[in-house]
Amino acid sequence: MLLASPAKREFAMPKSSYNRIVIDLAAIRDNFRALQDLAGPAVEILAMVKSDAYGHGLIRCAKALASVGASYFGVAELDEAAALREAGIDGHIVIFLGCPDVQALIHYKLSPVVFDLESIREISAAAATVDTRIGLHLKIDVGMGRLGIMPADLPLFAGEISRLPGVFLAGVLGHFPMADQDELLTRQQNDKFNRLVNTLIDVAGGNGPVFVHIANSAALLQYPETHHQMVRPGISLYGCYPADDIAGISLRPVMSFKTQVMQIKDVPAGYGISYGHLFTTERPSRLAVLPVGYADGYLRALSGRASVLVRGRRVPVCGRICMNSCVIDVTDIPGVQVADEVVLLGKQNHAGISAAEVADWLHTINYEVLCLFGNNNDREYVD
Ligand SMILES: *Cc1c(COP(=O)(O)O)cnc(C)c1O
Repeated sequence: MLLASPAKREFAMPKSSYNRIVIDLAAIRDNFRALQDLAGPAVEILAMVKSDAYGHGLIRCAKALASVGASYFGVAELDEAAALREAGIDGHIVIFLGCPDVQALIHYKLSPVVFDLESIREISAAAATVDTRIGLHLKIDVGMGRLGIMPADLPLFAGEISRLPGVFLAGVLGHFPMADQDELLTRQQNDKFNRLVNTLIDVAGGNGPVFVHIANSAALLQYPETHHQMVRPGISLYGCYPADDIAGISLRPVMSFKTQVMQIKDVPAGYGISYGHLFTTERPSRLAVLPVGYADGYLRALSGRASVLVRGRRVPVCGRICMNSCVIDVTDIPGVQVADEVVLLGKQNHAGISAAEVADWLHTINYEVLCLFGNNNDREYVD
């Protein structure tokens, strides 16, 4: 039997959820300008756009940053770098976790961070074959205890890179483990990095421009001597601070997370709310049910801790947060209606909930909140 052909669509397929991440592109541009002003004109900004731009959307953010002069971008993996190129970003792209695919490096003109001789030789051989040169960023572990070569191996690596065809030293980098919390250690590590870099420049024979970079947002905001020729802000581009006690310049949060009221209901005192009846009303209460839950990144661990904004006021989330819903108490807010906007992160009128505050409720850091919310929901861009 022949199947009937599907009926012609007479409606547009619904594509947005009640929940949405709102990304303010004007804010990200302003933050870039503010950070460039702070660093000064002699310092390049390598904009860290890894992990889908910390949940803000890789391509849209990179384009917004490029529009205000960003020409260096940092990603974690090759797929992100390729996506930037395919989207028309023609600046320098540094891949921080190295690159397993040499042909892709050559094809897309990408710069990997390197930390082992095998990769360096492999890249050299492939690039020399097609008569091109790949810029390498050599990572030194000056006390991060993560990726990077040990300082003692530096002469060997630098010598190898300057000797081999098809590759050149485009950058030398380190990374701070505690720029947000330990000034003395950070200065000591920066001094050590400086000394290493100076020996390395000699070894490399002053061969071409070598960008020296170590500063993340915390170092950029606090320690000018760590800026060198390039800085690598991530969290500050998105308008957040790397720690509560670091301010410096004024940044504008880029991300908001919004939902809306689904149902309003009045319940008596002593009424148990949601799974496990974690919360029981103490008075006759007006509740609003929200269509957002842990599947949207509004984690169950926020149960009993989080607040949201409705009609410009702060109200508590009551009881367990479920997979796709949760409940708020709006007894004290007159006039709340179905479809009213509810802000989970961001501003509403004069009230605001920051990523740092949500992070406190979750016992984590604002970075994780941005990735969690941003990468689990549809994004809408405003300008
Ligand atoms: C993510 C990252 C940064 C940016 O750090 P922020 O604290 O977000 O500014 C800088 N350098 C490296 C190596 C990173 O992985």
